[in-house]
Amino acid sequence: MKHGNIAKEAREHARPYCVSDGGKFRLKDFDPNDTGTLKSKEHAEGMLARGVELLSHLQEKLYAQDRWAVLLIFQAMDAAGKDGVIKHVMSGVNPQGCEVTSFKAPSEEELDHDHLWRTNKHLPERGRIGIFNRSYYEEVLVVRVHSELLKRQKIPEQLVTKEIWEQRFEDINCYERYLTRNGILIRKFFLHVSKKEQKKRFLERLEDSKKNWKFSMADVKERGFWKDYQKSYEEMIQHTATKHAPWYVVPADNKWFTRLVVAGAIIDALRELDLSFPDVGKEKRKELSAVREVLLHGEE
Ligand code: ATP
Ligand code: MG
Repeated sequence: MKHGNIAKEAREHARPYCVSDGGKFRLKDFDPNDTGTLKSKEHAEGMLARGVELLSHLQEKLYAQDRWAVLLIFQAMDAAGKDGVIKHVMSGVNPQGCEVTSFKAPSEEELDHDHLWRTNKHLPERGRIGIFNRSYYEEVLVVRVHSELLKRQKIPEQLVTKEIWEQRFEDINCYERYLTRNGILIRKFFLHVSKKEQKKRFLERLEDSKKNWKFSMADVKERGFWKDYQKSYEEMIQHTATKHAPWYVVPADNKWFTRLVVAGAIIDALRELDLSFPDVGKEKRKELSAVREVLLHGEE
């Protein structure tokens, strides 16, 4: 299949889930169990393989051109499949051109700084893809759901008002616009899993000895705050979905479909850039041609 056709296919899978203007966004309009026009995993396998191959080709150009950087942000409830998506979608990508960073609860050192400090240090270089497994968005999610976390942040008291979340949304939007203007392309993914599917996956982690290691008591505790999290996710998307840094609300009850949508969105984004292998110029081409002659016809 031609690259143009694979890209078209990818775009068709991803676009329905793209939110680039949060104004009218409602989470309930998005079904975690949606599989678009596809009926089963078997339908998706060939498409995902083609997508991964195209992604690898696009990344090679991104790297060679060394101008744009790409930042991919993943946010989700536990067991929504962030790790699996990152692993599968990026499987064809040259590890040298890609860096994954996971953000856990902040350290004492991190709490001593502004909240964009720790992620800022891990932004991708030009030519690279940076993946954030969780990100500064935790600052308007877990920190919002558990207000005691905000207290630990040592922000001067008079700055912590009821406007703080609005202010954080505004700061994030400004920050993302700044990054975009510097040639960092941003795409954000909320893997939207249902409460029912999460329960099923937690039970699998308890019942399958190969998955026991993934089980965490903390995850079950957070499940108790499901509604608060959903509300925070909804407001986060309403306030931070923009044209230059859209959110993809990816159905996550079927892993094979999640992967297809994420791959599609990344392909679509990379195709929007003017990627090309750098032209070395006339002089350099002459030089290369001369070296080639020597190699071909010179000594053994
Ligand atoms: P996995 O469980 O697959 O290893 P994970 O991303 O769930 O990956 P955990 O160590 O289980 O990793 O959880 C990280 C925890 O850190 C999450 O509960 C998350 O909400 C929390 N966290 C991340 N960023 C912040 C932050 N800025 N402030 C407070 N808590 C945070
Ligand atoms: Mg976890």
